[in-house]
Amino acid sequence: MTTTQAFRFALDPNDAQLAGLRRHAGAARFVYNWGLGFVKAALAQRDAEQSYGLAGDALTVVPWTLPALRLRWNQVKNDVAPWWGECSKEAFSAGLDQLARALKNFSDSKNGKRGGRRVGFPRFKKRGKARDSFRYTTGAYGPAGDLHVRLPRIGRVKVHEPMGALTGRLAEGRGRLLGATGSRTAGRWFVSFTVQAEREVPEAPSPRQRAGGPVGVDAGVKHLAVLSTGEQVDNPKPLARSQRKLRKASRAYSRSKPGSAGRRQRAARLGKIHAHVANQRRDGLNKLTTRLATNHDVVVVEDLHVAGMVRNRRLARAVADTGMAEIRRQLDYKTRWYGSRLHIANRWYPSSKTCSGCGWRNPSLTLSDRTFHCQSCHLVIDRDTNAAVNLRNLVAASTSETHNARGADHKTPLAGPVAVKREPGTAAAGQTRGAPPQGEAA
Ligand SMILES: [Zn+2]
Repeated sequence: MTTTQAFRFALDPNDAQLAGLRRHAGAARFVYNWGLGFVKAALAQRDAEQSYGLAGDALTVVPWTLPALRLRWNQVKNDVAPWWGECSKEAFSAGLDQLARALKNFSDSKNGKRGGRRVGFPRFKKRGKARDSFRYTTGAYGPAGDLHVRLPRIGRVKVHEPMGALTGRLAEGRGRLLGATGSRTAGRWFVSFTVQAEREVPEAPSPRQRAGGPVGVDAGVKHLAVLSTGEQVDNPKPLARSQRKLRKASRAYSRSKPGSAGRRQRAARLGKIHAHVANQRRDGLNKLTTRLATNHDVVVVEDLHVAGMVRNRRLARAVADTGMAEIRRQLDYKTRWYGSRLHIANRWYPSSKTCSGCGWRNPSLTLSDRTFHCQSCHLVIDRDTNAAVNLRNLVAASTSETHNARGADHKTPLAGPVAVKREPGTAAAGQTRGAPPQGEAA
């Protein structure tokens, strides 16, 4: 099967290269804002024309697509950005491409062609506020040996750690570069290569995965995750230390005076630690999801109410929910790689409130109840473990049914919940994903 993978590396640029990275990100932002201004002006012009009775071909054309935007840009770039030659033309393409996508998302959302949250009209990117990034899709970009990357018009930039995983794959012809994105996170520059690769995908679960059986996973608050096996997967050790630093930095930030130089400094420090914590958590989750996908034939996770999740004010729970979203994202492709399956429970299935022993429900369970006490069968169990066992039981109760779901179409985007009511001990509710797509393999 054909997959796309991202390989991301931190950069150690020299001063001239750093200036080049900033200049390219600035160029992408500049052209985005220029294009947006142009579109807005054309829309206003059109409104005015309509108001005095013009219609059809007589109306101003609004450059809404990438080719239209590019055409206009090439007509005016000598006037609006005489410095354009200092940057790779890819940076301008990337900025216009971003704008064209933002415009399309807006119109698709408005016309009901796009689900999810309503997408607003694109806004101007403010320097320092917007994420700095630019992209190459053509030209002589790529790794130069294991320790450098070649970025046209910027130079041969040193990477922070060797890129063996990527360069090995490319050298053996097991991957093709699709593009490279330079971006800045918390004061540090990264390059991320998108690589298209062919992957051998097992047809069926291995004996080891079958022996492991299904497993339910719940993202913990104190732990990285809690499994239906009873295992509580600890956070990576360095993470606890960084989290203490994070709390300290965030207190220092909130004490500083709005608008002061000290506040900007503290915000930068806070951002840096945040990025570090997110990296450590992602590393821990990567190890966990590989283990789950290779040791079990079905992995069951909860569906997430993503919009509601972001609004959750309780920090601890919000962190766990973000963890769950990442676990699910990783399992979605890893189960496909390793021949296991991902089963996503119905969004409305009350995994925390249901007794994993007898099916009794405790509707009054609150977020602060860390232990589940069953008033029917008197089971006393850790709240997250109980939820994980309930998730596993969703497929354990109907193994034959989920096996029939093999070959589901994975190209369909994550759909809404399948509304199936589940009585204790009957068939599973929800969707199954993760079977290798039939006929997709090359
Ligand atoms: Zn019970």
